[in-house]
Amino acid sequence: MEPALLLNATYEPLLVVDWKKAITLIWLGKAEIIEAQDREIRSAHDSHNLPSVLRLLKRVKVPRRAVQFSRANVYRRDGYACQYCGNTGRNSVLTFDHVMPRSRGGKTTWENIVTSCEPCNRTKGDRTPLEADMPLLQRPKEPRWWPFTLTAWDGKHPERWRPYLWV
Ligand SMILES: [Zn+2]
Repeated sequence: MEPALLLNATYEPLLVVDWKKAITLIWLGKAEIIEAQDREIRSAHDSHNLPSVLRLLKRVKVPRRAVQFSRANVYRRDGYACQYCGNTGRNSVLTFDHVMPRSRGGKTTWENIVTSCEPCNRTKGDRTPLEADMPLLQRPKEPRWWPFTLTAWDGKHPERWRPYLWV
């Protein structure tokens, strides 16, 4: 069963919960469904789609913490997809690319590092995306919030979560 992403009332991602916890929050009237899964759960009287993303109706206070800049977190931010061609791959075929090449003063920061497959990385070489005619799928930036349980959860997050992982 796919877990659900729990958002604060302000739409910040808070944590990943299993489907039972998600259903309980809905039934208790503490959260609403923002995105549903295709899968249904049936009770004696009716059926509901399982939540994929749900939002608390009342805001809870959480301390903000910076997201650690690391190779793994760059991959997570980019959804394990090459930011030039969109290919997703196993970690072994993914690498990361300096958008502005290091040889030309490009820094190793959230804003200048993107996930790239090896072929795209080789093709781009020491050029900017414009020079190489390889536009980025999205502009890289620092994630302002990362749900802490997501870092403990290995694997790809469902595509439905993607719009909610940036705040
Ligand atoms: Zn690629």
